[in-house]
Amino acid sequence: MPDKNPPSLLSCDEFDPNALQVEQARNKILESIHPVDDVEQLPIREALNRVLADSIQSTIDVPSHTNSAMDGYAVSGTDIPTTGTKKLTITGTIMAGRPLDIHIATGECVRIMTGGKMPAGADTVIMQEHVQRDGAEKIMSISAEHKTGQNVRQAGEDLAKDDIVFQSGIRLTPADLGMLASMGIAEVPVFKRVKVIFFSTGDELCNVGQPLKDGQIYDSNRYTLYGMLRRLDVDFIDMGVIPDQRERVEEAFQQATAEADVLITTGGVSVGEADFVKETLEKMGHVGFWKIAMKPGRPLAFGHIGNCQFFGLPGNPVSAMVTFYQFVQPALLRMMGIKDVTPNYLYLRSETVLKKRAGRLEFQRGIISNINGETTVCSTGAQGSGILSSMSKANCFIELPAETEKIEAGEWVKVQPFAGMI
Ligand code: AMP
Ligand code: MG
Repeated sequence: MPDKNPPSLLSCDEFDPNALQVEQARNKILESIHPVDDVEQLPIREALNRVLADSIQSTIDVPSHTNSAMDGYAVSGTDIPTTGTKKLTITGTIMAGRPLDIHIATGECVRIMTGGKMPAGADTVIMQEHVQRDGAEKIMSISAEHKTGQNVRQAGEDLAKDDIVFQSGIRLTPADLGMLASMGIAEVPVFKRVKVIFFSTGDELCNVGQPLKDGQIYDSNRYTLYGMLRRLDVDFIDMGVIPDQRERVEEAFQQATAEADVLITTGGVSVGEADFVKETLEKMGHVGFWKIAMKPGRPLAFGHIGNCQFFGLPGNPVSAMVTFYQFVQPALLRMMGIKDVTPNYLYLRSETVLKKRAGRLEFQRGIISNINGETTVCSTGAQGSGILSSMSKANCFIELPAETEKIEAGEWVKVQPFAGMI
């Protein structure tokens, strides 16, 4: 274990006793978030990815009738011989969706197809491959190795009538849409979409499609934000780049906060920025400028302007994405009505040595891969907060605790996979 520097020797940049811990900041944000309470009724296809506003109870058994899980023969378990074989007379054929109103007596069976409704008197299906047919005769014989009840799906074995199938506050997945359809439910109540407005600030920013002037860079944050918001399935408006001019900034804040539930900006919240961004925020609303003990990603402005929740993210492209994933995304999920918004973690061995300075929790960008059957994680390489390619190469964050300085190859690390982050 390498020696750790005592805090007094750390640079101010790494150790700030006034900085908020990540978990603390996330909890503070979540505590002040109010979920949207407007509800709309939607056809189930349109409800994909939306959040249920009420619980769903099944009014039927699924499946609604006991049926065959195989193509074969429906028999009574009492006709399975204990030794040798037994001949049964075939009295009919049952196809899926075409039930037969017959009763299977001792010594009888029916041919039945997968999904066919089990006839009265039968409780077992023998796969067609496991019987002997006597030519064209309506006779087949079964052996002793079969078990009563096999290859039969019981009515209600998936969902029973009156079951609470879904609680409110869950996000509907493709499987959930199928479940709703299997219960015959055509429409569900969901929370209305959260409306987000975002813009970038900075005189150096140039829009894609325009030639770059000297000293300019292309605005990439509005595109990462677009992607992250689209995946979350919120309603959003991109207001473009707002130049560092007092009136334009004020105007943009006024318009955005009148229209949206949430305003997200990038840039302009760090020390030494054009003062009127802060000035405007302080004049118009209740916004705090937080130093968070994390890298990359501080500072973060958080608060509200009227009824509009405000997040001012750092301008550096990686910092903007990291702060979005760690703070804005859980907040938006909570606003959408989702109860469980905690990120998913797993622990993996690091393939390589990872280094950092003690003092701040770090979200390094990593690649989870599977080599010779073992799933491990490695760094994407250079970790600067302006190196957006590190996010593009990555499929996870490697979360390294504040006090850590070095992870040896083979050590376990905490990993937040991107897939499943929403
Ligand atoms: P700021 O937070 O405004 O001080 O910006 C920090 C750094 O991020 C500066 O190098 C900016 O040029 C850069 N930056 C700010 N906004 C954007 C953006 N929308 N797209 C790409 N880089 C940006
Ligand atoms: Mg700026």
